[in-house]
Amino acid sequence: MSDPLAEALRRWFGFGAFRPGQERVVRAVLDGRDALVVMPTGSGKSLCFQLPALMMGGTTVVVSPLIALMKDQVDALAARRIPATFLNSTLSSDETAQRLAQLRMGHCKLVYVAPERFRNPRFLDALRETPLAMLAIDEAHCISAWGHDFRPDYLHLGEVVAALPPTVRLLAVTATATDAVRRDILEHLRLGQGGRAEPEVIVTGFERPNLALNVTRVRTHAEKLERLLQIIEFFRSGIVYCATRRMVERVQGLLAEHGVRALAYNGAMGDGERTRVQDAFMHGEAPVVVATNAFGMGVDRPDIRFVVHWDVPGSLEAYYQEVGRAGRDGAYAWCELFFNYADVRTQEFFIESANPPAEHVYELYAAIRNACAQGEGGEATMSPEAWAERAGLKSPLAVRSLIALFERNGLLRRTRRVGSPWSAITVPPESDTPALRRICDGLTRKDAADRERLRDLLDYVDARGCRHRFLLAYFGESAPARPCTKCDVCHPVNAFPPRLLPDDARLTDLRKVLSCVARMHGRGDYPLVAAILRGEAPEAWRALTTFGLLPEAPPRAIVETCEALEMDGYLAGMRLTPAGYDLVLGRGETRPIAVFHIGRTHALSPAPRPEPGEQTPTERNAPATGLAAALRAWARQEAARRQVPAFMILHSRTLAAIARKRPTTFDELALIPGMGEVKLAKYGEALLGLVQAYH
Ligand code: ADP
Ligand code: ZN
Repeated sequence: MSDPLAEALRRWFGFGAFRPGQERVVRAVLDGRDALVVMPTGSGKSLCFQLPALMMGGTTVVVSPLIALMKDQVDALAARRIPATFLNSTLSSDETAQRLAQLRMGHCKLVYVAPERFRNPRFLDALRETPLAMLAIDEAHCISAWGHDFRPDYLHLGEVVAALPPTVRLLAVTATATDAVRRDILEHLRLGQGGRAEPEVIVTGFERPNLALNVTRVRTHAEKLERLLQIIEFFRSGIVYCATRRMVERVQGLLAEHGVRALAYNGAMGDGERTRVQDAFMHGEAPVVVATNAFGMGVDRPDIRFVVHWDVPGSLEAYYQEVGRAGRDGAYAWCELFFNYADVRTQEFFIESANPPAEHVYELYAAIRNACAQGEGGEATMSPEAWAERAGLKSPLAVRSLIALFERNGLLRRTRRVGSPWSAITVPPESDTPALRRICDGLTRKDAADRERLRDLLDYVDARGCRHRFLLAYFGESAPARPCTKCDVCHPVNAFPPRLLPDDARLTDLRKVLSCVARMHGRGDYPLVAAILRGEAPEAWRALTTFGLLPEAPPRAIVETCEALEMDGYLAGMRLTPAGYDLVLGRGETRPIAVFHIGRTHALSPAPRPEPGEQTPTERNAPATGLAAALRAWARQEAARRQVPAFMILHSRTLAAIARKRPTTFDELALIPGMGEVKLAKYGEALLGLVQAYH
């Protein structure tokens, strides 16, 4: 009777339902297909390979570049009694031998390895004797030179795949993959090639409809500051991202001059200091943090209300990840990117420093060899600035990235010396020219890719279409059909977060709506609130003092206002929250944010006249009514199919709410009362399909 997948999910992981996308991936794998999965960080990608690994015979090899996380992942699996292990450079050779023996005996369901492990003959020998079920490649974007984290070791995985029988499933998983990167992954990992079935490509979860996306053109720092102060005043709690450490300090200073105490954070701070700042922000001790892009990993404060980019970021991946930290609670959050063309130069400078031209690579390496030859004990110790000067390079940043690259390619070794801030460098006796050439080729490619990604960001800045759509398309997810309510291209007037002044007429309207809800004592729904306020509700409601208070407000405007009030935390369903009572009674502060976006399109009183050619409110409601009927018909059909009474499918109130709110994503659907995780998993797709059909 019960679904074996759901049962396995509960048994092994204790989860009641799949997250969006997960079930599709698991089914594809169990059906014998390869898959590419693109979902944002935190959306539950690991489960996409862990669960099928447990449900298939044989071992699953998980490739991950994040050596530091392997142990935690394996420990977490072990805690669930799942036989898993990892192999990486942190293990002693005895330990490695022991683990390889276990692998051979088929004792592991999952084994985590770094990509370079596939060059290790002992591992390859063991692998040949291991019955393999699947090769799962985590952080699969590392295989693409167009990605932000290209790792040549990943390219080698193509050959590994080619040597595998087509019965071994392939699963590539990543949080960021643009079109070009997705194509690289499919091609290099040979998904769907060599006798393999067409792979399933699943991109989901990128939509963040509660983020208001804005780009503001600014000319001076003074303009940026003025704007930032307004945003902070309005939204209170958030993150200001700057491109450099120097700018972080400067902005913190500017804010302090204006009485705003903000924390500062950058990647060069010591561990203790970083943790202290993060904790202070997480616990709300300081509402604002000014930071470089190093800030954010592991910051899961749900109520971040704004993210401002003081400078342009280097790519849309970085940008979306950073704004994505706002509004994790699902409530309205404000994102604003300050755009000044001059700031693009900073990013270009970063790109140039990170990818120096070939002559600099050769010159620096020659200078290092020279210095080592002359140095005592074949060693040379210098600051990046000194190296830059000696080799005729402009930027010490470039020296840093090159020295790290040289080391990774075995062209030099660094040793830390007590009392010296700079590591001592030694070089092997012979210069490895092919390695140098490889480095140069890699840098040329990365330079092109980095510039391309910066151009994509500039295209976004100049976008003439919806920003939400632009970003979804960039990450390969199809956008919902519903028009956007939250970006400055779709709604140019939104470009400024307005303020509700105490004498604002809209505030009076909001009070009328809230007092109406309060007087309904939890009964009814938002359309009924509209009917009462318009004086159209049935007899029984006539006694309410709010009856007929907003006769001219379009019903839809009232309903949307209720929804906005809910988003802003003044309403919780048909109940007022404490903040809602404060607003009705004129106590405390009023910061209805979502309400603005609604209020701008519909002032509740007097009712706006429809523009010529615009639909009237009744016309706009018509499809919703058709949708309600379609939903009921669907529920009846579904009930007949499953041979259960119709109310077992979904409550009629839930159906009505779906017809009214017209959710376009799983997240929105999940917010509808009565849509539990199980119902969401069972009927989500069908319901969203119906809503879309009636759009
Ligand atoms: P990602 O790899 O996408 O960043 P993870 O795989 O680490 O995300 O999952 C993030 C969190 O979500 C983990 O704590 C995981 O246990 C949890 N999770 C994953 N799938 C589900 C599910 N179906 N139901 C509830 N929690 C889940
Ligand atoms: Zn838009």
